[in-house]
Amino acid sequence: MTAPRIEIDLFKIRQNTRLLVDRLAARGIAVAGVTKAVCGDPAIARAMLGGGVSGLADARISNVKRMRDAGVTAPITMIRSAMPSETGDIVRYCSASYHTDAGVMAQISAAALRQGRVHDIILMVEMGDMRDGIMPKDVADTAALIGEMPGVALRGIGANFACFGSIAPDATTMAVFSGLADDIETACGFYPQTVSGGGSANLTWALAAGTKGRVNELRLGEAILLGLDPVSGDPITGLHNDAFTLVAEVIETISKPRPAPLHLVDPVLMALHGMSDGDVPSRSVFAIGMQDTDIGGLTFPSRLTLIGATSDHMVVEASGKAMRAGDEIRCPMNYTALMRAMNAGDVERVYVSQTAANGNSAARPDRPVLSLV
Ligand SMILES: *Cc1c(COP(=O)(O)O)cnc(C)c1O
Repeated sequence: MTAPRIEIDLFKIRQNTRLLVDRLAARGIAVAGVTKAVCGDPAIARAMLGGGVSGLADARISNVKRMRDAGVTAPITMIRSAMPSETGDIVRYCSASYHTDAGVMAQISAAALRQGRVHDIILMVEMGDMRDGIMPKDVADTAALIGEMPGVALRGIGANFACFGSIAPDATTMAVFSGLADDIETACGFYPQTVSGGGSANLTWALAAGTKGRVNELRLGEAILLGLDPVSGDPITGLHNDAFTLVAEVIETISKPRPAPLHLVDPVLMALHGMSDGDVPSRSVFAIGMQDTDIGGLTFPSRLTLIGATSDHMVVEASGKAMRAGDEIRCPMNYTALMRAMNAGDVERVYVSQTAANGNSAARPDRPVLSLV
């Protein structure tokens, strides 16, 4: 098999999705599946849809086009505020989009009129993440402004947490956010259908006891894909953390001296130092590098220690049996490593569906998994 590659277990992604969808449904919250970390991979998008998400969301129009080209017809929301230069494509390929800039929204309105469509707008509100979002005090006025734009409909509001800043939301913040939906209703007489309360960072709040107010959607990427809470980095109970595995191949194993702690000028001494005793580690070089992933975001088997990486090489020390050229290692990835690897042209994607292949009928999905591959 080719290397480097990412093995993607669509069945696990689907199970993660289903579990989160079911748990949140009990709180009156729907899930939008966020596909940006996997570049809008259509097979993964379908696994999310099979797991019950109400729609998909991505931050890049190129990813949205990839899904549309592959025949994905589900609603897709653009969750990064639009560049004026891409408003036409956003109206063409997305059913809704997030906005903060009145001028850009006017361009969306014009594009929608030109294309003879009605496009939904979600107003992104600044709730403390300090990335994109209009200030809460401006929400009602901006909503009224959108109400006067032809070709667009204000579908709701959204907030973002622990993306740029690392603040996870608390009940008070969420109550304030929820109250903004009421404000819009009072000020404009318009009912905000979608109140989107953030991403995976907000799961702790969403699944905890207590009122969820008007929040009726979360946009989930990391929790579905990696089963991790982005704030703590901890695994989320019941979810698979190994839906993605990066596989890399050894191209060299040679015992080399560790760099001397002292710089020994005499080359003979230097050589002796390196060849001293059993202390000489077995070093393996892998054909993978910083161009392919975030090497620092990989988790290694316990007998391997990462020494370093360059653009195309990764150096690892092994205890125990030395690896040989052609041997492979399998590493779980964090979110950044996953995102980079999914973006890398030389990293092959291999779709597996282990659980289904093992015939675990208790957890069999409602549609055959193989049709997704
Ligand atoms: C990336 C992103 C998400 C998803 O975040 P996760 O932590 O992966 O769940 C949600 N909303 C917006 C606006 C995003 O940019």
